[in-house]
Amino acid sequence: MKITFYGAAREVTGSCTLIETPTTRVLVDCGMIQGNGNSFERNMAPLPFDPSSIDALILTHAHIDHTGRVPKLVREGFKGRIFATHPTRLLTRLMWQDASHVMKDEARRYKRPALYLPKDVNPAFELLHGVPYDTTVRISDDFSFVFREAGHIFGSGFVEANVYGTRLVMSGDLGNDYVPILRPTARIVDGDVAVMESTYGDRIHEDPQHRAERLKAAVNENFSKKGTLLIPAFSLERAQEILYELHELVESKQVPPTPTFLDSPLAIKALPIYHEFSEYYDKEAAALKASGDDFFKFPGLTVTKKPDESRAILDVPKPKIIIAGSGMMHGGRIMHHLVDYLNDPKTTLLVVGYQSAGTVGRSISEGAKVVHIDHEEVQVQAKVEVIGAYSAHADQAKLIKWVTSGRTLPKKIYLNHGEPHASEELAQKIRDQFSLDVAIPAHADSFTHP
Ligand SMILES: [Zn+2]
Repeated sequence: MKITFYGAAREVTGSCTLIETPTTRVLVDCGMIQGNGNSFERNMAPLPFDPSSIDALILTHAHIDHTGRVPKLVREGFKGRIFATHPTRLLTRLMWQDASHVMKDEARRYKRPALYLPKDVNPAFELLHGVPYDTTVRISDDFSFVFREAGHIFGSGFVEANVYGTRLVMSGDLGNDYVPILRPTARIVDGDVAVMESTYGDRIHEDPQHRAERLKAAVNENFSKKGTLLIPAFSLERAQEILYELHELVESKQVPPTPTFLDSPLAIKALPIYHEFSEYYDKEAAALKASGDDFFKFPGLTVTKKPDESRAILDVPKPKIIIAGSGMMHGGRIMHHLVDYLNDPKTTLLVVGYQSAGTVGRSISEGAKVVHIDHEEVQVQAKVEVIGAYSAHADQAKLIKWVTSGRTLPKKIYLNHGEPHASEELAQKIRDQFSLDVAIPAHADSFTHP
């Protein structure tokens, strides 16, 4: 078996790993490169392999940094099957549609080509097959695999494969503990070689069990001061988790019903997909569903699909709660709410997600008193509260627990999907505690296992 790291090598986006046997070539994830200055050029560059030579593609979850270059791969000749869990299959289509519309607009605005267009989404979706967790998929005599629960976002799976006699496990992205709706991350059954993400390889998270308590405190405080609680949230997963927690707080009367707006078209479009696959829920969510309760509905909640509905939220008297994208406050409907509410001392801005360098969200969470939004200078008078317990990725302790959870310890571990300092700290910890062989591959590095 030969493994080549074509993406997320010493960085956190663009996941793309090629596995080869004498007869079979399988790609795991084919994500978009995001963030840094030359990502547009890197995404547009030809793929470092012939797409038509790839037999199959496995998608670990729907996030665009794991799926975003697939329509390009298909347009450039890939004709094999694509495998994902059932929720990932439908969520991925949503992500592609959304990304293709954004890229079409950007192409027009910046007079440049688009990575792909809305018309490229369907040809890729037609190749995408849904498979349940813990069910063996046989790609060839040399390659079979199962998805196991990764606990990162709805439908996310890690991959346990038998590749030409080598037992290979690939984490995709692993989730935090105690995430609403999602089942806990599964243990590895067998892995001789492990590829693991290391986003938070150098960090220990705030206890995730505190998150609902902190959300409750913020909602109650906002109600008594008659303010606006602004929650910028990633449309996929974070928005749905917040709804789930608000539902529980309202129904159990721990917080008063407050006018609440889910103001994110993508988050609203994802709701039916969550409804459709209740067999993927954890025990608590499944019990709620079985009792006939819809945990995405509660007194006070309004979903605002259209732009004029979004604008009209301004006329609703306070107290109120607004959940809107984007999560890092660098686009989307949250931007006009920031302009409307940040200069009001009665506003609380609740930061519940990772804020990358260069975003408005990062500046505000670091204490900026003035930010620029659409060439407008906005004073930050709002109270800014950061809840670290909402991280969507496993921390150092959980990563180590997961990679050593199999019946035997892996003989080799590759760390990807992390900034170098995070991967290095994690690698050292694993070497010190378990004396295992850990490598941090660079872009295009290849390794062979007998
Ligand atoms: Zn992810």
